[in-house]
Amino acid sequence: MLGHTISKSFAERDQKHLWHPLTQHKLHATTLPIVKAKGAILHDEHGKEYIDGIASWYTAMYGHCNEHIIERVGRQMQQLDQVVFSGFTHPPAIELSEALVNILPDNQQKLFFSDNGSTAVEVGIKMALQYHFNKGHKKNVLLAFEDGFHGDTFGAMSVSGLSVYNGPFENFFLEVERIPVPNGTNTGEIQKTLENLLREKEAAAFVYEPLVQGAAAMKMHDAKGLDTILALLKKHEVLLVADEVMTGFGKTGTHFASDQVETKPDIICLSKALTAGLVPMGLTTCTEEVYGAFLSDDIAKGFFHGHTYSANPLACTAALAGIELLQSEEIQKNIANIMQWHQKFADEMRPHPKVKNVRHLGVIFALDLNVETQRYGNLRNKLFKHFMKEGVFLRPLGNTIYILPPYIISREQMEKIYASIRSAIALFQF
Ligand SMILES: *Cc1c(COP(=O)(O)O)cnc(C)c1O
Repeated sequence: MLGHTISKSFAERDQKHLWHPLTQHKLHATTLPIVKAKGAILHDEHGKEYIDGIASWYTAMYGHCNEHIIERVGRQMQQLDQVVFSGFTHPPAIELSEALVNILPDNQQKLFFSDNGSTAVEVGIKMALQYHFNKGHKKNVLLAFEDGFHGDTFGAMSVSGLSVYNGPFENFFLEVERIPVPNGTNTGEIQKTLENLLREKEAAAFVYEPLVQGAAAMKMHDAKGLDTILALLKKHEVLLVADEVMTGFGKTGTHFASDQVETKPDIICLSKALTAGLVPMGLTTCTEEVYGAFLSDDIAKGFFHGHTYSANPLACTAALAGIELLQSEEIQKNIANIMQWHQKFADEMRPHPKVKNVRHLGVIFALDLNVETQRYGNLRNKLFKHFMKEGVFLRPLGNTIYILPPYIISREQMEKIYASIRSAIALFQF
């Protein structure tokens, strides 16, 4: 029996019991077994190597199996593995709070732990709704951008505008009003839309991805337009909930995307690169003002939300080690280098007749192919296969090809990604 199991490949054994996320298993028959990862490289079960051009969904920014992070977490593992965070505390959580508050926008003072990006947003929404409830305000509507993505739990799904797959659940959503993203020319219109909305609806909070909407194929916003919207909302006592799950920890060239916008959020949601790609964790941070609304002699005004693994000491240690790396001269220099390489590649791609809308911010690079995706529905899969054959892991979205490499990627590896994009564009007719 055991011999029989071993003689089958991982790919075959996978199919027997595993149900993968975001997958229609009838149409998508196979999954690729990855058995090892180091630095910017993924290794499959046959020994083929792939450059991880999206840092495994923007998590492993300091490289896979990073020695510094593994060493720190390994030591913590022998000291304290897990303890209840309700009534207890521990050094990794305390040290993380100090290190993170030190790099977050100045107004962020309190940290609330959860398990992933969706729960970080869920907590942000509940925090905002209860803030108003505790203050006796009647505010029950949430605002969000068109095409936003905030996760797959109910609150997070409700504020997400990319609702193609949310059909079965839409009747159960929170009440959300959507506004267009600022593109540099529509700020005045958005302002008017918002002013009308705020007259009709009792808006509690605005949930937004600052500057870059990841799942909307790296759609980038006009920072000034975003600031105008945020300032207007702040004036109307709408809490600003910045979802920095994707943009956080250096990806936009600053520690947080909110650093590039004058009006600061009241609440920030963090995950993904927070723990440097090692283990899952979510964090929701807020101002003293938000926290203060929960302080009361009435126990029910407290925030009764919690997860079993809240502030897991190993996850906190991974986050601390990640922040140390983020602040290192070496990583900051790498980020600056990648930004320069992207700039050059963008200049090269912009005039290409098969390319439109080249954009980049920090280490995020994206271009749209000059084609209607509805008519060429399988182009995305062809591109994906082409990149994988070339040993490059990228996940094109519709007609968008984007790169979000780990900071430790070498010049040579980055050139290989650019070359595979050039060859893909040359190869396919559209
Ligand atoms: C990935 C992502 C989420 C959801 O995080 P999960 O850990 O996958 O639940 C939420 N918001 C943004 C902006 C994201 O990119």
